[in-house]
Amino acid sequence: MKILIVNAGSSSMKFQVYSQVGPSKFDVLAKGLYERIGLPAPALGRVVASYGNKKITTELALPSHSEAATHLINFLTAQKIINNIAEIKGIGHRVVNGGENFLASTLITDQVIAELESIFELAPLHNPPAVKAMRAFKKYAPVPAVAVFDTTFHTTMPPANYLYPLPIQWYRDYKVRRYGAHGTSYRYIVQRLAKILNKPVEKVNTIVCHLGNGSSVCAIKNGKSVATSMGLTPLEGLMMGTRSGDIDPAIVEFMSLKLNIDAAAVVKLLNKKSGLLGISQISPDAREIEIAASEGNKDAALAITMYTNRVSKYISIYQNEFDEPLDAIVFTAGIGENSAIFRTRVCQKLKTLQLKLNETVNQDRKYDDYLLISSENSAVPVFKIRTNEEIIMCNDVDKILTVTSA
Ligand code: ADP
Repeated sequence: MKILIVNAGSSSMKFQVYSQVGPSKFDVLAKGLYERIGLPAPALGRVVASYGNKKITTELALPSHSEAATHLINFLTAQKIINNIAEIKGIGHRVVNGGENFLASTLITDQVIAELESIFELAPLHNPPAVKAMRAFKKYAPVPAVAVFDTTFHTTMPPANYLYPLPIQWYRDYKVRRYGAHGTSYRYIVQRLAKILNKPVEKVNTIVCHLGNGSSVCAIKNGKSVATSMGLTPLEGLMMGTRSGDIDPAIVEFMSLKLNIDAAAVVKLLNKKSGLLGISQISPDAREIEIAASEGNKDAALAITMYTNRVSKYISIYQNEFDEPLDAIVFTAGIGENSAIFRTRVCQKLKTLQLKLNETVNQDRKYDDYLLISSENSAVPVFKIRTNEEIIMCNDVDKILTVTSA
């Protein structure tokens, strides 16, 4: 049996095909990325796919997610990655925001799609392409499908941590609250950490830093999310590749008057032109900023200091969520897994926590899926762990479809 995982963005669609090799055991058969979806003809989109030891790159017309879905199914069959559609047990679709009603991954029905459409405004850039992909695959690969939400992991947050200090009617009438993000990554990390520590998940106390293009921090108490830095939208919290993270909300009106643009245009600048890019004026990419800083570029160095200070600030605040000592601090995602300097700077800033990194292990780039990067005299163990959101999605699809077909 095969499981297909789909992660649709506004102009992209990532996929991964798993083959079941045992009970709850899966191997990756193929993966890839469709890019530049939605460009009108004659512009072309692109797919890069790898399977076995082969890698293909093809340019093709991708005016919508439908063409990507059809191409993917044809490609998987032509390359004999699947023999036919019936071999796909199910499809897992990533959904960034499930609002308050979805508390776990859910079998996709017409009603689920309608509910998702009713909360598009909670994730206007992310949820509509996910629904487009659901509809496209329903047409070209009519097999059961499951929605896996980035928000369900955070539904355990207490009201004191998910409400904003705003008129409560805004929450009651419009559901203005913190939803959080990267929940599928946090679920993977807490499960992986539990295995590493040889503890049940329900006993794990950790602060996880998911540092990628989008970045957030999560306090996980007894295996559950109790606080996280992303908010109503993915703009809140840490400084990110192009997003500002936390700022004085009055800046929106201030800059709208200065630049003579409306609030939506200012928010767009906070999303697209701020963060590491805004400060460094070089790139949103941490690798390029590291190189520029090492060559003496002061703006790049400042961007790293600001980014890492803000991660330290959240770790510091989130310590208050725990009654017992932390089991670990974990770094994950593109920057968290790969950048020694970012990790070092975060830990150095947290002076009273007395974290001590083993710099040889911290700098080790060739590790399998995790490494303990702190030394024995560190007050809290510090890990880098490679996240794997797709395997969590695959397991959810398998579990839900096994239950529904029983
Ligand atoms: P997302 O999934 O949110 O698009 P990723 O988790 O892939 O993001 O992270 C992308 C970030 O990771 C980029 O800023 C990139 O520069 C950074 N990154 C990836 N590899 C490295 C590396 N070897 N050293 C430093 N930063 C890295």
